[in-house]
Amino acid sequence: MPEKTTLNECLNIIESLKSYVEDQINLGFIDIPTKDKNDGLLGPQTNLFTTNSKAKFTTMEEILKAVRGCHACALCETRTNVVFGSGNEKAGLVFVGEAPGADEDHQGLPFVGKAGQKLTQIINAIGLSRDEVYIANVLKCRPPNNRDPLPREIEACEPYLVAQLEIIKPKVICALGTFATQTLLRSDLPISKLRGRFHTYQGIRLMPTYHPAFLLRNPKFKKDVWEDVQKVKAEYDK
Ligand code: URA
Repeated sequence: MPEKTTLNECLNIIESLKSYVEDQINLGFIDIPTKDKNDGLLGPQTNLFTTNSKAKFTTMEEILKAVRGCHACALCETRTNVVFGSGNEKAGLVFVGEAPGADEDHQGLPFVGKAGQKLTQIINAIGLSRDEVYIANVLKCRPPNNRDPLPREIEACEPYLVAQLEIIKPKVICALGTFATQTLLRSDLPISKLRGRFHTYQGIRLMPTYHPAFLLRNPKFKKDVWEDVQKVKAEYDK
């Protein structure tokens, strides 16, 4: 009698196959058109599953250099500084926000304003410091008057975030708010429907939660965020 393959073994095989296919795509050996949930082909947005994604960056310094010189969208004309990211480049946990605000644009660092203080509290509440995790945004430049990021800005900037995550290879990602979550998960579901449970981004566990700025305006959602980050910490500790 052939031995039975356990569920875990099956999952390991699927995971290895997925990594292999991702590597082949990154190396440009195969083309796989990605479909969105409406079954239409995705646009030119670049992620690890799109055909035009090549392994372009091998170090954080290379990505930083590219971001500093980036003119891929009009936000480069109004930025004071690019806001690349901060923290531990070998972190097991990465927080991804939306875009720099005025304070971040001035200092060139992510989450240093009021929303940043809230994020620091959240990180500290799960027993970690900002230096132990990595913090980045979907957009590296500030949208004027803190307006929402435009689809073409996300499209232009997202490859930098994808590259950062590829280099850091965290165990867990915590996506803060609608834009980070929808961008990474290729979803247009509202954050209220996506938060609170783990999703998978490139084989990495991803927990969406409310954005700290939203929490400042709507403190009644504190309990939800608290529950979400407890799950993040448990996964990080595994
Ligand atoms: N909000 C964000 O999403 N990112 C920041 O860096 C600051 C505020």
